[in-house]
Amino acid sequence: LPREAGQASKAVQDFGRYQSEEPSTSAAAGRVAPHISGNNHFLDDDQPPLLGDNSLPPNVPINGSAGSSNRNINSSEPIFHLRSRTAAASTPNYESLDYEVCENTLFQDEQRKRLTERFSLRKDIIRWIIFIQIGIITALIACTIDIIIEELSERKYTFLYNSVKKNVPLSDAADGSDLLIPYLYWLLFSILPVAFGAAMVTYIEPITAGSGIPQVKSYLNGVKIPRIVRIKTLAVKAIGVITSVVGGLAGGKEGPMIHAGAVVAAGISQGKSTTFVKDFRIFKAFRDDHEKRDFVLGGGAAGVSAAFGAPIGGMLFSLEEAASFWNQNLIWRTLVASIISVFTLNIVLSAYHGLNDFTFTGLFNLGKFDTPLKFDYFELPIFMLLGVTGGLLGAAWNSLNTKINKFRKRFIPWKIGKVIEAVVVAMMGVTLACLMIYFINDCRPLGNDPTNNPVQLFCEDNEYNAVAALWFQTPEATVRSLFHDPPGSHKILTLALFTVVYYVLSCATFGLNVSLGVFIPTALVGAAWGRLLAMLTYYAFPQAEFLHPGKYALIGAAANLGGVLRMTISLSVILMETTGVETSFFFPLIIALISAKWVGDYFNEGIYDTQIQVNHVPMLTWEPLPQYKGLTAREILSSPVVCIKLRDSAHYIYQMLKKCDHNGFPVVDDVSGDRRSEGRVCGIILRSQLIVILLKSLYVENKRFWLPETSIQTFRDVYPRYPSIKSVRKLDNKINYTVDLSMFMNPSPIRVNPHDSVPRIFQIFRALGLRHLLVINNENRIAGIITRRDFIYK
Ligand code: ATP
Repeated sequence: LPREAGQASKAVQDFGRYQSEEPSTSAAAGRVAPHISGNNHFLDDDQPPLLGDNSLPPNVPINGSAGSSNRNINSSEPIFHLRSRTAAASTPNYESLDYEVCENTLFQDEQRKRLTERFSLRKDIIRWIIFIQIGIITALIACTIDIIIEELSERKYTFLYNSVKKNVPLSDAADGSDLLIPYLYWLLFSILPVAFGAAMVTYIEPITAGSGIPQVKSYLNGVKIPRIVRIKTLAVKAIGVITSVVGGLAGGKEGPMIHAGAVVAAGISQGKSTTFVKDFRIFKAFRDDHEKRDFVLGGGAAGVSAAFGAPIGGMLFSLEEAASFWNQNLIWRTLVASIISVFTLNIVLSAYHGLNDFTFTGLFNLGKFDTPLKFDYFELPIFMLLGVTGGLLGAAWNSLNTKINKFRKRFIPWKIGKVIEAVVVAMMGVTLACLMIYFINDCRPLGNDPTNNPVQLFCEDNEYNAVAALWFQTPEATVRSLFHDPPGSHKILTLALFTVVYYVLSCATFGLNVSLGVFIPTALVGAAWGRLLAMLTYYAFPQAEFLHPGKYALIGAAANLGGVLRMTISLSVILMETTGVETSFFFPLIIALISAKWVGDYFNEGIYDTQIQVNHVPMLTWEPLPQYKGLTAREILSSPVVCIKLRDSAHYIYQMLKKCDHNGFPVVDDVSGDRRSEGRVCGIILRSQLIVILLKSLYVENKRFWLPETSIQTFRDVYPRYPSIKSVRKLDNKINYTVDLSMFMNPSPIRVNPHDSVPRIFQIFRALGLRHLLVINNENRIAGIITRRDFIYK
């Protein structure tokens, strides 16, 4: 057998071994990513595999010939190393984005033509204008969502308040039947919006489920998440979040705002809409993954800023949580987009609320503390202890949530089941709230409750029901109450039960097929137990004046957020910006957050990273995985490599693209016969480029027809939805035509040697945002190829 054939049959055997070791996921994937199932909000179950065919049995012949080991493979035939035969094969087929700019001859021609200072300046100015537009439009979307939520929630809770007033007799109520009618109304107002939102998410655009932050984070890391930045996605996300919040699910609108900002950025920066088949013929120079990524980052930051009214927090959030690649200019532009976003939101919402001093800051408004929050140094260990508690509770929450999602994935595979499940959780929330209101007798004198409609329920005339006050408003308003209600506003039992119920409820909610963020419920749970701990301590030590319940609610919220999300810098800044506490209070916040993060990290990852793992997204971590230390490129590369000759036959390229599903192919010359995989490397070409070449018939034989007009724009015009090879008609009469790749290929791909260490090449791969890394020997002949999957699953 020729050498290539021997190696190919080994790949088949390897594939068989992985198949037999683990039926659903590869052994390697299982080892690296321990959570192997969960609610896949990235790739929906019903979606056909995006690439390749993972269902091939182990001994399917390569290249269509018979048998796996005793095949007579003619060396003139290409050996197509199908993805489905690698260890990584049985993980979902996420493609990567091309962050490396392909500096081919066409690109260089364009650069040379535009080598004027004026052009660079113009491009820079346009870039700034786009960032400003992103800020404004993201804020307008945020305002629209917020105003609709506020109007609908106000109507819902006023109606319920009136219904309670009408149906429930005062303090001497003896049986629960009086609460029955308000309860039924409450159920109805939860079920209808939640069912509508869940049906939209499930049937129209499943990628909109959840907060969207893990998806945006994966995208920014270089993983192409299908349909994540489409207009349809934005529409469903916006409606989804409105219905979920109005329905009263334990979630918030801030996570989806980040996703919305990302979609806005991706849409505006491209100057065209593929969905509406409309090309505005502007911003053409920004039509590539590299430029788009930067705008999406700005959009995400603008979204966070609008959500929290925190421009610096928004920028830091993108830096800490989302971005994988940064530079100084990008930080500036992102900050400007964030500031513009907050400013626009401020003007619109202030106008809407009739304020004339532009004091309305963000969607997530936690209210300002009346008196400056102070702390004593002996409190620092207490803050640390709260942080530890937050870390433990957060780690437990993440683990419980992952288990619930695993259960969901397994037992609720049907679409209708997912909608029903969302409705059941909504009903569960309403029922638990009503049970608490009914069974806990917590009446407080009027004047304490800051809401417009304090509910009297079973209390005396000059009293309100403190349990109902917690439930009869949006979760965000409840966080505000827990921060600012005066001491003695709740019973210990009320807060203890509320914490437990909301903890479980939020855990059951995150992972439902609805659009919702996790930030607000997490802050709410933390604020509740923070306040509760302060109350308990105060009962034990009544002389402890420093135990301000609002202060401890804030630290509790920070600790719980740190325990679940595992962010530190951006969270502390966001909390400071949304509550307006003094900069000196940054210290206690950061102590609580860091302790929570360290303790939580000991047990598991933050919730966003957990979701990414559960969905097997090939995210590149900041550092190489520990098991890769000490290895060399030789141990992780793939070989033999499917290559293309510098001047190759159109027929070969067409057949190869049909049979093989890789996305990058080294271009080689000095090939003896058809042994392409032993040729000398002279560049790399992408599948998408090859398809455009075939579609536009850019053959050597036709050169005089296409050469004058063909430019880099020919390729940009089809970005980002490149056609598949299926859209290329059979070559028939062009079977003997030749393709000359010299002007299309990237002539300077990054190359490494087989003995280079994996941690080193990982740094190169990650820092440059590569998609393919070529491994060459001393003679510049191809020794193998490495993609992001090889750093994760091998
Ligand atoms: P990505 O999936 O990151 O967009 P890709 O599609 O080109 O890039 P994959 O096909 O996903 O890469 O890679 C799957 C496996 O196949 C990896 O182990 C990789 O090293 C290998 N591989 C990639 N390209 C080739 C190629 N041209 N020839 C042989 N093996 C390849």
